[in-house]
Amino acid sequence: MVSSSTLTTKPATTQPGPGEVAALQTVSKRYGSVTALTEVSLTLRAGEVLALLGPNGAGKTTAVSLLLGLARPDKGQVRLFGRAPQELASRVRVGVTLQLSGVPETLTVAEHLQLFASYYPHPLPLVDVLERTGLTGLERRLYGKLSGGQRQRLHLALALVGDPDLLALDEPTTGLDVGSRRALWDGVRGFIAQGKTVLLTTHYLEEADVLADRIVVLNEGRVVAEGTPAAIKERVAGRRVRFVTALPLELIQTLPGVQTVKRDGPATEVRVAEPEPLVRALLELDRTLTGLEVTGIGLEEAFLALTGQREKVAT
Ligand code: ATP
Repeated sequence: MVSSSTLTTKPATTQPGPGEVAALQTVSKRYGSVTALTEVSLTLRAGEVLALLGPNGAGKTTAVSLLLGLARPDKGQVRLFGRAPQELASRVRVGVTLQLSGVPETLTVAEHLQLFASYYPHPLPLVDVLERTGLTGLERRLYGKLSGGQRQRLHLALALVGDPDLLALDEPTTGLDVGSRRALWDGVRGFIAQGKTVLLTTHYLEEADVLADRIVVLNEGRVVAEGTPAAIKERVAGRRVRFVTALPLELIQTLPGVQTVKRDGPATEVRVAEPEPLVRALLELDRTLTGLEVTGIGLEEAFLALTGQREKVAT
């Protein structure tokens, strides 16, 4: 066991590890009586896409605000490019998409980009940024006349124009249809392909699965899981068993290893850790059972299980 005297001999400030772009170290943050984060540690490494996932109020925006120097922790340390995140030298290396923008409606796409480019020492050529975000041809369009998808792409373009090393995307595709979401992902992928680093917060698990190298799952201000999308799914190594039966749900609920059970149209769907004992029991109870399928569970279900929002038994 480590004694308290050993702990006090440690330096107050730890140094960034190799490849570290940003880090929270045992950070806690309260807003009045609300605890937003409790002893959260996470590290963002160069060249990776890290997704912060969690239900509403989990603390994702708070974690990003601390990393970007927009708020200060009550406890713990925050580093951005090895420095305090409030330092200008750190902040000019970051591009941020705005979730709720106060962007003036009466400026054109090109005017917005020129304005943002003027804030940075080495901005990218506007023609490149327009091309990369699919906005070529819309330079003279007023912000107020852009569609939702075009606005989100302009927000991405504004984040990219300063040629940042770190791109922070806070819910970048909220409210977009599938086509617009994919177009925006392509813009982000172009950035990733240059070996840059991305911090993504999203409610869309598909987005984390498609874009992220690593996922940190937050719930009620704490890290509840961390790993690759595949590792997160493995943490909840369950199987989904589907079949058509007349057996009542209440009976199925009592069979070996059943975690959840619900009807889905004519089919019954059950989640279990090990499918074989359940399948044996089912076939003994119902010789007329049909349509048997066993599949792995998706990221969505893994996420719900990790954050404790388990499915209810539905009839
Ligand atoms: P969402 O997905 O809904 O955006 P989130 O995971 O980003 O949620 P945060 O916005 O970080 O979560 O909020 C964490 C907790 O802190 C919530 O309970 C929230 O109500 C509270 N909170 C956040 N900002 C403030 C603030 N400025 N004042 C008071 N409470 C706050």
